[in-house]
Amino acid sequence: MIGVAVLGSTGSIGLSTLDVLARHPERFRVVALTAHRNVERLAEQCRRYRPQVAAMADPDAAARLASLLGGMPGAPEILSGVEGLEQVAVLPEAGYVMAAIVGAAGLRPSLAAARAGKRVLLANKESLVMAGALFMDAVADSGAELLPIDSEHNAIFQCLPGGFRAGLAKVGVEQILLTASGGPFRDWPTDRLATVTPAQACAHPVWSMGQKISVDSATLMNKGLEVIEACWLFGTGPERITVVVHPQSTIHSLVQYKDGSVLAELGNPDMRTPIAHALAWPERFDSGVAPLDLVAVGRLDFQAPDPARFPCLQLAFEAARAGGSAPLVLNAANEVAVAAFLEGRVDFPGIARVVAETLQSTAIQSVEGQGLEALIALDQQARATAEQIIVDVPG
Ligand code: NAD
Ligand code: MG
Repeated sequence: MIGVAVLGSTGSIGLSTLDVLARHPERFRVVALTAHRNVERLAEQCRRYRPQVAAMADPDAAARLASLLGGMPGAPEILSGVEGLEQVAVLPEAGYVMAAIVGAAGLRPSLAAARAGKRVLLANKESLVMAGALFMDAVADSGAELLPIDSEHNAIFQCLPGGFRAGLAKVGVEQILLTASGGPFRDWPTDRLATVTPAQACAHPVWSMGQKISVDSATLMNKGLEVIEACWLFGTGPERITVVVHPQSTIHSLVQYKDGSVLAELGNPDMRTPIAHALAWPERFDSGVAPLDLVAVGRLDFQAPDPARFPCLQLAFEAARAGGSAPLVLNAANEVAVAAFLEGRVDFPGIARVVAETLQSTAIQSVEGQGLEALIALDQQARATAEQIIVDVPG
């Protein structure tokens, strides 16, 4: 029986994870669940999955959860705050940790799980964008098993031979081809993008996801963050990564080899596939996802991303090339800009503007040897800069 802690259990990835776990009760036991402040949903999950620990980032929400579950026999121990999330990530009973908190808030607990040598199922790509070197060093030092949940990275992982960590060139890889759906505005005239509403940006044509990643998918910043994530996961520079727009999202990504072979992973766009892959690895088991019907899919289309429509992708490539603190600044500015867009404080093209200006106003520095606290301080500074830019030039 493997104990699993699900960080961010009330979100889109969290729900899909619980769905897969419930299909294999003989193999897994849910030992901990966490959420930000969705008390009702976490309480319901606690009643169903009976974890030994439940944590809420928000202390008031944790208190409400405690009173809701007070009378329940075998009620979980309730923890709160960032410390509570970190405690869950290192729980001795949890062999596997699903890191599915959204944004920079996921860094501390994801890193704690990596340091504790867990099997880390990493959905929280922002951890690697912010602290890639620190994170990968922690994995190497502790012997943690890092398995990518992001569908593209999970696909690439599946298309690479064992031993790829010694270097992609050594295993004959020429390019990683990262597919992108292109989001809801792939075909919109560029001059209409200023009219985009949060509801339109969150209505992804293929995937059903949390709000932040949905907006990131619409700007293609999600693909940009994924380029940086891929660099860390697969030990390469951005020059070995090409982004291809593929609207059907049937091919989740590809690996091109020296001899001309291109390996791809295909399937229905449902996150339960990469989640089941990472839970069962190196075996395979049922995920609940319907088999792919190629005839129903009919055709697979590909195009190059339009740099004028998607400046965020370019900004992320530049940050990846610059290295140092640039990806961290990019991520922080993007989180602030997306939140401001969702609140109606900047328009849709304003997201890229805020990120670009934050990068321009910040001195990019080396992060070699920097610890977690130093990185978090840089993240806070970049957030303050981005907020100031939004106040100075409202979109
Ligand atoms: P979501 O918004 O649906 O859920 C986020 C979860 O994190 C919730 O449980 C929420 O309670 C928790 N959370 C939010 N803020 C928090 C905070 N400050 N402290 C502690 N917990 C907090 O997001 P999602 O779509 O499930 O995405 C989660 C992560 O997975 C993101 O990093 C995203 O980029 C990545 N991801 C998601 C998908 C997808 O299909 N949804 C695909 C690939 C990668
Ligand atoms: Mg993805």
